[in-house]
Amino acid sequence: MGKMMMKRSRRPELMWGLGLKQGLVRQIEKGVGPGFHLRNFPADSLPSGKDLSHDEKPSAAWIPWAVWNDFPECRRDEFRNQGATQRILIQESGDAPLEMDTVLAEGFLTVVRTPLTRPKIQDVLFRAKEVTSMYSDIYRMTEEIMLERELLARKTDQLLFLNKILASATESLDAATILANAKETLSLVLPVRMLNAAFWNSREDSGTSEMEIFLNGQMPPAVESAWVEHLSASAASMGAAPVAGFHINHTDPARRPEYGRKPDEGKLVTMPLAAGHETFGCLALLCESGYRLGKDQVETFRSAINHIGLALRNALTFKEVKLRADRDGLTRIYNRRSFEERLVYEIKRRRRYNHDLSLLMVDLDHFKSVNDTYGHKTGDMVLRKVGEILVRTFRTTDLAARYGGEEFVVLLPHTSEESAWKLAERVRRNIESSEFSFENRTFSITASIGVASVEGGALSSDDDLIVKADKALYQAKNNGRNMVVVSGRHADTAVQ
Ligand code: GH3
Ligand code: MG
Ligand code: MG
Repeated sequence: MGKMMMKRSRRPELMWGLGLKQGLVRQIEKGVGPGFHLRNFPADSLPSGKDLSHDEKPSAAWIPWAVWNDFPECRRDEFRNQGATQRILIQESGDAPLEMDTVLAEGFLTVVRTPLTRPKIQDVLFRAKEVTSMYSDIYRMTEEIMLERELLARKTDQLLFLNKILASATESLDAATILANAKETLSLVLPVRMLNAAFWNSREDSGTSEMEIFLNGQMPPAVESAWVEHLSASAASMGAAPVAGFHINHTDPARRPEYGRKPDEGKLVTMPLAAGHETFGCLALLCESGYRLGKDQVETFRSAINHIGLALRNALTFKEVKLRADRDGLTRIYNRRSFEERLVYEIKRRRRYNHDLSLLMVDLDHFKSVNDTYGHKTGDMVLRKVGEILVRTFRTTDLAARYGGEEFVVLLPHTSEESAWKLAERVRRNIESSEFSFENRTFSITASIGVASVEGGALSSDDDLIVKADKALYQAKNNGRNMVVVSGRHADTAVQ
């Protein structure tokens, strides 16, 4: 016969006897039958705390009243706390009569009188089993009730949450406020660190789109740029036309440490916002990583995002937000429009305060041949990198912008001609010394720069500054490129 057929002998069930005299041990062993093992502790070595916490708990303990009566109160408690063991009190013929109340108050299952006959013992065993199984039923039901309660609480939370989302989303008709509220409300159910968003409209005429970007708040340039990149890429994957320009809004003007997080620093969820068949934006939610949502929570969450999406859609159409792109989609620095706006502003200020104002006009040399040699994509990469060099070289109060094609401008408030020339030289050198790579080849490029300034109380018009810088740039090109020319000065004297 195979091993499989062998009947496994069941381990006898453990019972204890406390200070049982031999006669009682015999009566109990006979009464319970072979399925049990009775371990009797003599009266002078009753089980200790250690025995009580042993792995195999006795299902029952037989205790004569005289033994129990001699127990100090603290030892009794040790036994009372043994929930898995049914205690059976034995009343012997010499004992004083016992009230059932006392027996129950002491935590005994029951009391049996000597002599312990088989029917009496069988009856006790049966009751012990019933009580044990009843307890386990109660325990299971209690657990179920607790679970049910938890689920109910969760459902209630979710309903409250949806209600809150709905209320906070419709409370305002301003997209930034809706987003700020949404972030706060979503934080009730998720460890949300950032909630950034982008909306786009496609301009059919040019086949490009413009984006209105909402970031939580001020963040370091590298972080901001990573978010712009993520949102533009998401827009592209959701069907938006290539982004020609964008504008950044801050939903929360306060700077907080968490706004330093890049899209890959946490769990990122990016969801499209759609109305009908048209996807008009996306939400990017950055959560604490390692966080998981339950299935019901995902549904609540989806529904919340839909609410928010509709509210944002309303806000955008209500205001008829003309997406006012002020950044260039390729280089991500300011575009010509924002430069022109800022120029008007700076010239106005200059008229009041008479401070210096300078302008650089930067044009890449022989850029056409970069495209021709390495391809348009590489040309784009070069333009992006030049944009970065410009941003890196100047202060935040200065404004570097892409003027068009491979031409850039830098507006320098409070900057004299002399300083502007020095800065222009620094940029020229930074561009010249930058390495670009295409496949396995590296190459470099140069730029020509025209500088124009108005100093102190000199009269000027905005056109003037641009025209002068442009002329100086033309001169730099004519004189051999890769140089700085200051308007009104001879090229040779301006370059060292
Ligand atoms: P110069 O030294 O006289 O300035 O020569 P250049 O080749 O730079 O000047 P030109 O004005 O003849 O050519 C400008 C080139 O810049 C032509 C155009 O294809 C390229 N360009 C303009 N905008 C972009 C762009 O967004 N991406 C790429 N890759 N190239 C661009
Ligand atoms: Mg050029
Ligand atoms: Mg040019």
